[in-house]
Amino acid sequence: MAPDRHLAVYPGTFDPPTYGHLDILTRSRRLFDRVIVGIGRNPEKRPSFTVEERMAMLEAAIDEAEITGVQVEAFDGLTADFAHERGAAAIVRALRSVTDFELEFALDIANSKLAPDLETVLLIARPEYTHLSSTFVRQAAEQGRRLIPGSVPPSVEQYLRKRYGF
Ligand code: ADP
Repeated sequence: MAPDRHLAVYPGTFDPPTYGHLDILTRSRRLFDRVIVGIGRNPEKRPSFTVEERMAMLEAAIDEAEITGVQVEAFDGLTADFAHERGAAAIVRALRSVTDFELEFALDIANSKLAPDLETVLLIARPEYTHLSSTFVRQAAEQGRRLIPGSVPPSVEQYLRKRYGF
């Protein structure tokens, strides 16, 4: 079956979701009618939040931001296989830095061999979100018991406060 040109998958760890992720999601909806946010289980990354928590945070944040045409799913295994199974024409990823570029460059080569029908669309992060990462947000919450201002929506803030007790 030919991939659906109206459908993209936006994969990631989302541990936790940030405003940077939401911006990429909003922008990918300008290109695609429907976007599936794919939460990779990535056990080797030892995520702080369970898949269920990350799913709940994303769903609440998407509702709060009133982003439509999006569905959140968890997946195991390879992103290329997940996107192919869902019939998506594209994988959306974002570039914040040259470091991101190097990773995405290698991933695209692998994915294009695994699923030749699939294209990776790389969006350049907006300057206001370039320095934002889930890791920084988590570290500030875990080690400093504080939030990085402007980093996460209220629904995610609640989870961080509860998890790290501040
Ligand atoms: P992964 O572990 O797969 O990189 P992440 O949740 O860290 O998962 O990121 C998922 C995608 O979202 C990646 O393409 C990443 O570049 C992008 N992303 C993460 N943070 C931001 C941000 N602050 N602004 C824009 N894009 C971001």
